[in-house]
Amino acid sequence: MRIIFLAAAAAVLVCQPVSAAPRTECKSQALKDLNRLSPQGHDVYVAVTDKKFFTRWITCDDTQLGLATAVHETVHLLTEEKDAFPLIGGGSVKRVHDVSRLYPPREIAARFNSGSTYVQTYLRPGAASSSSDFMYLLDELNAYTHDLNSAVKLQPLHKGGGQVDHRDGLAALMAFMTGYVDTAKRQKPATWQGLQRPETKHVIQTLWNQAETVLASSCGIPGIGQEDRKFIGPSASAPASTRDQRRRRARAPRASTRPPNPRNRQSRMPCGTVLFSRPLREPAPGL
Ligand SMILES: [Zn+2]
Repeated sequence: MRIIFLAAAAAVLVCQPVSAAPRTECKSQALKDLNRLSPQGHDVYVAVTDKKFFTRWITCDDTQLGLATAVHETVHLLTEEKDAFPLIGGGSVKRVHDVSRLYPPREIAARFNSGSTYVQTYLRPGAASSSSDFMYLLDELNAYTHDLNSAVKLQPLHKGGGQVDHRDGLAALMAFMTGYVDTAKRQKPATWQGLQRPETKHVIQTLWNQAETVLASSCGIPGIGQEDRKFIGPSASAPASTRDQRRRRARAPRASTRPPNPRNRQSRMPCGTVLFSRPLREPAPGL
């Protein structure tokens, strides 16, 4: 499932086929553009048997958005059909069903802004499968990784007034992953132990590294995210008490008004990739 925010429009959840597009003549051209600009996204189209499933997401109003959404939703379909997460650039990594027994991701919802559509969609109790089953949180992470990868490559198709939140979904899912693993480490010993299993660790690290690479590839593109900074940052997935402390410190009078140190990696990495790396890359017994 992909969340879509059209510029100046209400949020739309894409879970069901979109209604008939007003124009469809752009679809064949869109597929050519996908092949030319984002061969990895086109590989997803090639891989799916039901081509109409892919093409029905393409609209003529915002081809970049339509193609990225088609890639996202088709990655979900392929994952279900093959019982494996398709990887960018080919190949796949098998799903590990044991992770469905780990604690439900909805338990980390309180760590994030409850007003966020991403939190409501993917973590709220009773919402998407990802709220109750960690395997589907991995599924969304992978789908949003493919989604952003295509959106970045398709940036030449971007028009003013088109979708501007391509990075938000991956930022949210990466923050959820970080929060999930951090909570497991602190409070959920059984899950923490489960995450150490070699095959589980392999799946998580493979999908995480792929997500990091794609997120980093988007860093130089201005205006490709709206909510992303709420999820990417030092306080994004910290426990509430820590966030409060940081807010209080932020409000305190500052002794210095020096500009940020240009050598600070964080200031050079607006996507905050570095901030996400630590929790999932700690040496054993971490992930
Ligand atoms: Zn999805």
